[in-house]
Amino acid sequence: MKAIVNYVERLFLWELLKGMNITGRYLFDRKITVQYPDEKTPMSHRFRGRHALRRYANGEERCIACKLCEAVCPALAITIEAAPRENDKTRRTTRYDIDLSKCIFCGYCEESCPVDSIVETRVFEYHAEDREGLLMTKAKLLAFGDELEQQLATDRALDARYR
Ligand code: SF4
Ligand code: SF4
Repeated sequence: MKAIVNYVERLFLWELLKGMNITGRYLFDRKITVQYPDEKTPMSHRFRGRHALRRYANGEERCIACKLCEAVCPALAITIEAAPRENDKTRRTTRYDIDLSKCIFCGYCEESCPVDSIVETRVFEYHAEDREGLLMTKAKLLAFGDELEQQLATDRALDARYR
């Protein structure tokens, strides 16, 4: 019996008709293709893009050089050196590098930070033409944090983890 069914299906190109049916259904459906970069898809406030270091409102850098982010990074992408600061002897980073050519954007650094200093932004449109360009130094990270602070604060206000 199965052989007869198979024969009839093949004779009338049943599989082809099934395929054409699906094609026909989607032909007049709403198009879901996004014309990037003119159009963008919605983005989560938890998106894990390029990193930034944040400051407090008074301009003081948040990072206390605890090195938790460096310890937790599975890709060994973070390098920190620290020393007591001249004026108030508080512990601060003298070097804070993230090598984006190693980073896997897992977000562990952001989650481990006790003072919400290292964060991942919504920015994913960036490029570099050599490895040096993918090395995010402390100066670059702080400057990027300053530039995006408003967006970063808004995103964190949406997230119960930071309340
Ligand atoms: S996102 Fe993950 S891999 Fe990248 S620096 Fe942070 S902890 Fe390391
Ligand atoms: S960024 Fe956060 S986790 Fe990393 S060293 Fe600074 S305070 Fe510690």
